[in-house]
Amino acid sequence: MSDLFWVLYRIVFGALFGLLIGSFLNVCIYRLPRHETIVRGHSYCPNCLHKLAGADLIPIFSYLFLRGRCRYCAQPISPRYARIESATGFIFALTVGLWGSGPFTPASDKPDYLAAIPDAPYNMAVVCCVLAAFCALLVWSMILFDEQLPPRALYGFILIPALLRLSLQPGRILLHLAGAAFAIAVWWLLETLRLLPEGDRTRRNHVFSGLALLGLTGGLIALQPIMAAILVASVLALLAKKPERARRLVRMVLPAAVLASAVIWLFL
Ligand SMILES: [Zn+2]
Repeated sequence: MSDLFWVLYRIVFGALFGLLIGSFLNVCIYRLPRHETIVRGHSYCPNCLHKLAGADLIPIFSYLFLRGRCRYCAQPISPRYARIESATGFIFALTVGLWGSGPFTPASDKPDYLAAIPDAPYNMAVVCCVLAAFCALLVWSMILFDEQLPPRALYGFILIPALLRLSLQPGRILLHLAGAAFAIAVWWLLETLRLLPEGDRTRRNHVFSGLALLGLTGGLIALQPIMAAILVASVLALLAKKPERARRLVRMVLPAAVLASAVIWLFL
């Protein structure tokens, strides 16, 4: 079988798997700040509370087929669900497609003491760490975007895969520490200059969550991607003119930074 076939196979597999995971992330984003369980219970329409059937839950396709409306109450469904699913599908496809072999494979900087581990499981472990951390970051940033307080357990879901990845790729530690330091410095500067919007939460929680998120993002993905991500996010923030729009766009900085950096980190 040709290499191209396997690359395409990995991309399609990654995309489908990512769509399913994205659908689960939507559940997490909605339920975690409301202290609802994410492991049990049917999905339901947030408007009419009708239980959703299997056919209503196919990522993206259900949204397109139902033309963005609830089958039971006909109220519009937020396009955000489909966007989160597409973004997750895209990142999974890109990661699984790129990292299986070729110049971007994680095995290219495998340390000597892990030489006994074959390349395939090593690559798989690094890919799993990166994707798990991406999912946790996406959930966290979207909960912040909704001006809710992310549950503390999410720190673990970001930290553990990040530390595991560094233990698999110890050569990257300095770059990651620099990334965290840079991200924290940027957040501190924004905070000092009062450029951040006031949330509904207490100011301290707001500052802490933002700081932790950017610091962890920076630490997770190393210096160059976080610089690029902050640049993307700043351009977004600068595009805002009206105060309400500015507030919305500034809140989008974190999700945008997470997504942009997730794409960029694959290439570095
Ligand atoms: Zn409904």
